[in-house]
Amino acid sequence: MKGRSYLCIRGGEVIDPVRQRRERKDLYIAQGRIVDPATLEPDIPWRIVEAEGKLVCPGLIDLHVHVREPGQAYKETLESCSLSAASGGFTTIVAMPNTSPPLDTPQAVRWLLEQSQKRSAVRILPTGCLTRGRQGKELAPMAALREAGVVAFTDDGDCVQNAELMRRALEYAAMLGVPVLDHCQEKTLTEGAVMNEGYWSSVLGLKGWPSVAEELMVARDILLAEHCQARVHCQHLSSRNSVRLIREARLRGVPVTAEVTPHHLALTEECLKEFDPLYKVNPPLRTRWDCQALAEAVAEGTISVLATDHAPHAPHEKEVELDLAPFGMIGLSTALGVYGRVFVETGLLSWEGVANRLTVGPARVLGLPDPLLEPGRVADLVIVDPDIRWQVDDLSFSGLQGKSPFCGMELLGKVILTMVEGKIVWPKPEDF
Ligand SMILES: [Zn+2]
Repeated sequence: MKGRSYLCIRGGEVIDPVRQRRERKDLYIAQGRIVDPATLEPDIPWRIVEAEGKLVCPGLIDLHVHVREPGQAYKETLESCSLSAASGGFTTIVAMPNTSPPLDTPQAVRWLLEQSQKRSAVRILPTGCLTRGRQGKELAPMAALREAGVVAFTDDGDCVQNAELMRRALEYAAMLGVPVLDHCQEKTLTEGAVMNEGYWSSVLGLKGWPSVAEELMVARDILLAEHCQARVHCQHLSSRNSVRLIREARLRGVPVTAEVTPHHLALTEECLKEFDPLYKVNPPLRTRWDCQALAEAVAEGTISVLATDHAPHAPHEKEVELDLAPFGMIGLSTALGVYGRVFVETGLLSWEGVANRLTVGPARVLGLPDPLLEPGRVADLVIVDPDIRWQVDDLSFSGLQGKSPFCGMELLGKVILTMVEGKIVWPKPEDF
């Protein structure tokens, strides 16, 4: 299968993630778009993709991915990152700007856009830095970055500590019509910390990272968003008190949204009991009560976005002492199967509900149209087998990326096929 052709996806359960419903129907795709076959000539040689018993969903959007280019291709290349995304059902990924150089100039943003056009299997939407060099000292050239094509601003990996600067950033971002995505971390409370502050940090004798470091900044961002009437999106929530703050603010009508990662839903601080740097992540894994509160917040809609924070590192960087290892873990290939376990198996959400948090939720944060599979729309979609149980063993297909923190865990639901603009990008065209 090369390029685009006339394709019919037959007999699948097509998900409408807006209404959170599904309906058995055939989908026809021509020239990269979904079409109504009644409007075309009758003798088109449709190539059939059987989807009986499968879910057909608009392509997933990941609002939080560390694409390691420019500058850190030794961690992961654009090609392997995009393939990882495609294997996980993602057709659009939002790239964080903590690259080398960071995305704080229009040139760097344009470079990433040009390279992704040439080399990426999926759509990559860049974000721009909030502050120059992510130093938290002066604002990045936000208008020029927006003009170059960024869809949001963030200093992710870092958090602007200065409230006045954050206020100005929110005001400018609102003027430019895009949201600020904030990595909420009060830094004086997390100096030298490697894991959640609590029972396990005491047992293991490791410097603890209290959840209040996150909650302080979530609270600040809520108050600033309310004051400036500017949109703030809190990234990778990890604590149940953050959930409480977001819930209360959203009820009050503050323009704040939030996301949670697969690892903060499914893994706890106990994973670090063998001192394995694989589980060192920012913010840290917390307790099962936090996991539970985060999952319930997704189910009730307080957290409207599921995002991976996919952050690969080279093996030589991670295979060192815990204190020295960098923060971050991978997540694109396994996210959907983790959500199957956390939400669908437990009855917290249906697959349609999960699809909503993976398509409509992130699209609305970015101000994009609601993703739907209907005639006229671009054919970005994923076919999922909701019943397959699988183990994460071999992720080597995606090149450089390292070990998965979900190794050994049984996942529920697997991506069968991913399509971007009518072109099959997963399985890789040569093996299809
Ligand atoms: Zn972050």
